[in-house]
Amino acid sequence: MTAIGFIGLGNMGAPMAANLVKAGHQVTGYDLVPQAVAALAAAGGRAAASAAEAIAAAEVVITMLPAGPQVREVYLGNAGVLGRAPQGALLIDCSTIDVDTARAVAAAAREAGFDMLDAPVSGGTAGAAAATLTFMVGGEAHAFDRAKPVLSAMGRTIVHTGPAGNGQVVKICNNMLLAISMIGVCEALTLGQKLGLAPQTLFDVVSQSTGQCWALTGYCPVPGPVPSSPANRDYAPGFTAAMMLKDLRLAQQAAGAAAAPTPLGAAAAALYQLFVDSSGGALDFSAIYRFIAKSDTKI
Ligand code: NAD
Repeated sequence: MTAIGFIGLGNMGAPMAANLVKAGHQVTGYDLVPQAVAALAAAGGRAAASAAEAIAAAEVVITMLPAGPQVREVYLGNAGVLGRAPQGALLIDCSTIDVDTARAVAAAAREAGFDMLDAPVSGGTAGAAAATLTFMVGGEAHAFDRAKPVLSAMGRTIVHTGPAGNGQVVKICNNMLLAISMIGVCEALTLGQKLGLAPQTLFDVVSQSTGQCWALTGYCPVPGPVPSSPANRDYAPGFTAAMMLKDLRLAQQAAGAAAAPTPLGAAAAALYQLFVDSSGGALDFSAIYRFIAKSDTKI
């Protein structure tokens, strides 16, 4: 049993914290939203009235926050984690944030005497609920070894990707590739249909051919071929287009800083921006199919 302070009990954090409770850990949680804290208490955790209270006796601190500014505030701000966590506590940020913030906060943590890991996840809310998340972990090897038993209660695949920030690098590279391949699948389905081909026929052939990819065979953006894909439930998320846009922006920001050429990543970001601006943000990211297939879409 490990004493865990958990900050950020939203769509992902709530089921992750509940799985830690189920695994026998003592979880004290805090969120700006009081109902989220109450829900953790109802699931067997402990409610805290502040971040400082949540981590006061923590051996491990886990954060699952929206973006870089919240991570900076929670770790570096007045009464933040670095000023309040017990000596020797292991700090794990599971949020998806920009690489620079991940590396800056990890450096500040090291200076304050803490082991810190960035451990963003893939698998979405379903993976968080089922404890089958993939963790991409950046930081020191000995910190990774300390974290593994705790992360195992929330995920199935836990990979050490190198030093601080590398978990975020893997995450944005994966999601940039996913967005590009989803757009490619949507364009192929649209072209096929406009030339008179049924989506199912295209699916049957391409899923056995060189154009095969997960966006098609695991998450097909048209209803029918893959029964579990969001296209069959009117594109209820899943992983929202707004979240995909957030990750594409992080990728473009990092690509600019590293002078890495990512022309298709830039095009994917521009296309998701258009889709989100046209009120698609709350839909699953595969709903960009509708946007691309609309004959009057000017891209
Ligand atoms: P969310 O908005 O549902 O949850 C974030 C929570 O953090 C909210 O409950 C909010 O009240 C809380 N919060 C914000 N600032 C705080 C502060 N200063 N102190 C305490 N609590 C604070 O978001 P989510 O869907 O749970 O996503 C969390 C992170 O995980 C994001 O970085 C997201 O990109 C990433 N992610 C999400 C998914 C997904 O499918 N939802 C998948 C993979 C990764």
